[in-house]
Amino acid sequence: MNLIDEFSTALARLRAGARRLAGSHCLLCNAGHPRRALCENCEETLPCILRPCVVCALSTGGTGVCAVCLEGPRPYDRTIAAWRYGAPVDRLIRDLKFKARLPLADYFGLRLSEAVESMQGTDHDPPDLIVAVPLSTARLRQRGFNQAHEVARRLRVARHAEYRTDLLQRVRDTPAQVGLSAAARQANLRDAFKVARPVSGRRLALVDDVMTTGATLSEIARMLKHAGAISVDNWVVARAERPADRSRAGTVSRQGPNPSSRQQEDRAACSK
Ligand SMILES: [Zn+2]
Ligand SMILES: [Zn+2]
Repeated sequence: MNLIDEFSTALARLRAGARRLAGSHCLLCNAGHPRRALCENCEETLPCILRPCVVCALSTGGTGVCAVCLEGPRPYDRTIAAWRYGAPVDRLIRDLKFKARLPLADYFGLRLSEAVESMQGTDHDPPDLIVAVPLSTARLRQRGFNQAHEVARRLRVARHAEYRTDLLQRVRDTPAQVGLSAAARQANLRDAFKVARPVSGRRLALVDDVMTTGATLSEIARMLKHAGAISVDNWVVARAERPADRSRAGTVSRQGPNPSSRQQEDRAACSK
């Protein structure tokens, strides 16, 4: 099968997946008979990232790689995020994590697959192994599921990549990262993970729900590279902005079918 055939097959599979996902009510506003898990109006409100940096997925001033990533290399190679972490995606992610609304994992898996598909075929060899960021045993027991695993196992981009659950282990519980400095976050994560299977010569995709500072993903990427991985990409549902960028957003908390003016501006710019 040539590349165009493969792309068409993948697209058809995504569309079929989308049709299967369409429930009787929108998971955000409860409107009846959405085209897929969310109605079209609500999908319009999901915040995109304006010209994302290829490496860290933060919004850039217009170039492919942001100034921070140009300054110093990251342990990971690139990041693909389905959305910016903002309303109403933040609420959807909380609903998945804390209310166990697992149909949202189907939707996230589909939309993250679309984001990955749209980025592939460029200048970067695609990953051949997919892994989810593991949850601590205590957190797993408390929540009953790992949201990153639920999204990763639903990805429909496995033509070239195999999803593996035995490669990475969380061997130490870590206190919450919130409020810690970058150095403290790094120290907090030291020896928290273990690469449990050979990854030498492999290209990996690391799946997580939200990438905030990137400390966890950086630590895992560093370990995978140390174990011989050729490349490590982050595939995340949502990418949080830097606090300075976030303040620009003001009070973007509106949910439902009417996008805020910032969302409308970003959407217009993102679609260019
Ligand atoms: Zn809706
Ligand atoms: Zn960057």
